[in-house]
Amino acid sequence: MMLAGWGRYPRVECRVIAPRSRDEVVAAVAEQRSLIARGNGRAYGDSALNTAATLDLRRADRFIAFDAATGVLEAEAGALLADVLGCLVPRGWFPPVTPGTKFVTLGGMLAADVHGKNHHKAGAIGDHVASLELALADGRIVRCARDENAELFAATLGGMGLTGTILSVQLKLQPIETAYIRQETLRARDLDETMALFEASRDWTYSVAWIDCLARENELGRALLYRGEHARRDELSADKQAAPLAAPACRTRRVPFDLPAIALNRWSVGAFNRLYYRHAKPGTTIVDYDRFFYPLDAILEWNRMYGRGGLVQYQCVLPKAASHAGLTALLSRIAAAGAGSFLSVLKLLGPGRGMLSFPMEGYTLALDFRADPANLALLGELDAIVTAHGGRVYLAKDARIAADDFRRGYATLGEFAAVRTKVDPERKFSSLQSRRLDL
Ligand SMILES: Cc1cc2nc3c(=O)[nH]c(=O)nc-3n(C[C@H](O)[C@H](O)[C@H](O)COP(=O)(O)OP(=O)(O)OC[C@H]3O[C@@H](n4cnc5c(N)ncnc54)[C@H](O)[C@@H]3O)c2cc1C
Repeated sequence: MMLAGWGRYPRVECRVIAPRSRDEVVAAVAEQRSLIARGNGRAYGDSALNTAATLDLRRADRFIAFDAATGVLEAEAGALLADVLGCLVPRGWFPPVTPGTKFVTLGGMLAADVHGKNHHKAGAIGDHVASLELALADGRIVRCARDENAELFAATLGGMGLTGTILSVQLKLQPIETAYIRQETLRARDLDETMALFEASRDWTYSVAWIDCLARENELGRALLYRGEHARRDELSADKQAAPLAAPACRTRRVPFDLPAIALNRWSVGAFNRLYYRHAKPGTTIVDYDRFFYPLDAILEWNRMYGRGGLVQYQCVLPKAASHAGLTALLSRIAAAGAGSFLSVLKLLGPGRGMLSFPMEGYTLALDFRADPANLALLGELDAIVTAHGGRVYLAKDARIAADDFRRGYATLGEFAAVRTKVDPERKFSSLQSRRLDL
């Protein structure tokens, strides 16, 4: 099959194996000489692609157990986050960490050690995993936890499928009173104000900013900051109090065809960003969890807006002390090129945990670019700025960084490689990305 990540760049012909059960997953791992696991294909680039064998795990998606006393869910790795929400929000439980789309599998979330709008308070998804089961290159199945195969556990969280194939996971959820978020919107006029608002929002559970990536000079870094808390029942209107844990209304639309490349240019993006910034209404509202966490999921196949050639997402993180200088340099370069995207996101992360996991304490910037030669060259320049400021890029978004630039960002790469050499000396688990980066 022709396969790609969410960015639809690159696209390659892969042999796909789609096991229907845990036993079939284990058999496929044992039989193949080279393979990579694939969840729901929401990583943007080439991390879930292996031309020899890509293991599509979406059918290994059973829920195994849920403990309503502790909130621990045990499920197969192919289970979708959307199904976890659909099943457990009505019972008063919410994922401890969620990315900006619910169309990801639990295995994909662990493999990328995903972070959410609460990283500064709650850490990454790996911080909430009680244990996981892993199929190793030699066919063995091992249980990993903080006190059992601890090194392998740490390497697998964020390890992008390169230590083995995750079969199942025990994940601790958080209790909620309602399916709603109390959201506050604040406007910041420039980067100083945006960063000050993040600092002032440290006590909030969730915080994230949309940043106008084409604003320049004294408006550089202007943003809308959204912060939120799970709403209590008594904060809801009377009609919502009647069913506080009701599922959000389904309001999806689909991008019906690939937009022509010309539709996305510095004028259309600039106009959108100006309107978005000016028309936002600062203040407090109660919104359902879909609106707060997954606004992009309402537009199915929104990746088609970037045309047939696809898109690349650039996500980097800069150490806190270097964030102001680094963000100024990055945003200035992007605005000068006029190449940014409609929705660019800025977030303050808390400390990370090493190995191949992306988060580190500092600011992370994420934005989309049409995958064309000019933009790919620009991203090379952004890499140089990021590495010069001690930052790194996120593997789950990457499709193109050079191996040297990548390596400079991850000081604990050697530890990861050592674990991998112990469990997979032949590098059976490999992806286009791991080969490109010589991981
Ligand atoms: C709109 C959008 C918003 C996003 N927002 C965020 C965000 O806020 N924060 C964030 O951290 N990420 C975010 N992401 C990225 C996304 O959460 C990750 O790429 C996630 O890994 C995708 O999960 P998936 O099931 O689609 O995995 P895939 O894309 O299929 O695979 C991703 C990686 O996981 C590995 N993998 C998958 N399943 C297994 C398994 N069972 N065992 C071992 N390895 C496995 C693959 O080999 C690959 O390396 C976003 C992506 C999109 C499209």
